[in-house]
Parts: sequence; C-alpha cells; structure tokens
Amino acid sequence: MLQRMSFTISGIYYLSVLAKIKLIYIDEEVRILASGLNLGTLTESDKNQFLPLFNNVRMIEGVCHHIEHIKTYNINTKTIHVIFSEANHEHLKYIAAGMVQHRQQQEAELKSQAEEKRILEESRLRRKQEEKEQRIKEIKERNKNHLQMMLNNKRNPIGSSNNLLEIFLPKQVPQSHRLTHCFDCKRELDSHHDIKCTSCRWLLCPCGACGCTYNLMY
Ligand SMILES: [Zn+2]
Ligand SMILES: [Zn+2]
Repeated sequence: MLQRMSFTISGIYYLSVLAKIKLIYIDEEVRILASGLNLGTLTESDKNQFLPLFNNVRMIEGVCHHIEHIKTYNINTKTIHVIFSEANHEHLKYIAAGMVQHRQQQEAELKSQAEEKRILEESRLRRKQEEKEQRIKEIKERNKNHLQMMLNNKRNPIGSSNNLLEIFLPKQVPQSHRLTHCFDCKRELDSHHDIKCTSCRWLLCPCGACGCTYNLMY
C-alpha cells in the first residue's frame, strides 16, 4: 500500500528514494526515522491517516518511494512529501524505480535547458560587449581625426576671417580655467589648450577619450 505523507525536516538530513523508513507511534506522535535518524513527526492530519496502519504495533517499517520538496524555509528546514509503502515488495520497488527514472529524466532535461539558456546569454553578453568596444573605438577614432584636423588648421590657417578654427570653436564666453586628467589614459588636460567634444562638452583627450566614451565604458 502506498501512502503519501508530508512533514517538515529540520537540521541536516539525508533521505533518499528507496531508503528504509520507520514510523514509530509514541507519546501520541508518529515519529519518522531513517537510518536511525529522527527526521521529524507527522503532521496531525497525516498522523490520523497513518494511525490505522499501526493496529496494535508501535512501529511500522516501510520504504521511501518518492520525495518531493514542497517548501524550503532555509537551508536546513524543508517540508517534503514522501510516498511511503508499508513493505518492501518487489513490485513496489519496480514502481519506485520508474519514479526515480522519471525524476532523473526531468532533472536532466531541466539541466540541459538551463545550460542552453546560459550559453545563449553568454553569447548575447559577449556580442553586446563587442558592440560597445567597437563603438568606443569609432568615437575615439573620430575624435582623434577631429583633433588632427584642428591641429592642421592651426598650422595652415585659411585666412583669418573664415578660419575653420572659429567654425569649430564658436566665440565663447570666457570660461574658468579647468585642469583635469583623462579618465582613460590619465594624461593631463587643460581647458586653455584642449578643445571640447562637440557632443558631450568634455575636454577632448588626444587619446580620443571624452564623455561619450566614458558613458559607454562605465
Ligand atoms: Zn586620454
Ligand atoms: Zn564626447
């Protein structure tokens, strides 16, 4: 006969399918023992379900056929369902083996699904990182080209009135002198000599870094 029982286990326990279980009726309680360890007592409703099995004996022996965790309170306290059979009959062993196999299949399936998901997630993150690095590279390249062009214009001004410098550097209200360093290459930057990025307004470092690349990196 198969019976389903639920109980809460505290402490470190080890209960496996096909383990021998002893139910002991003592002090109005049904205690559950496996491998000589006290696993707990049956809940009141389960107790009433089991009491008729005891007849006049104090102890019944059985086999655990299935374990199902229904609630985990913390690492050491769990409520579990156990399918219990009164005797270790061969055909029950057979049923139990089927249950174990089924559970193992389910576990293997879940594991492979999780692995698949992990691989997909990994490649997604890698792609995202590569895109970001590519974008930073592009911005730095663009900034360096821009700086180079400014430098060339300084060396070869095309007439003072329509100097490209003035186009790129519109007359500004004099701003306070700013000394800082590049977050990327640590070079010192000086608002008297270094120009600003037209998008983020940070001082443009000769390495190409500015607020635009900062935002992508951090
Ligand atoms: Zn730099
Ligand atoms: Zn920028």
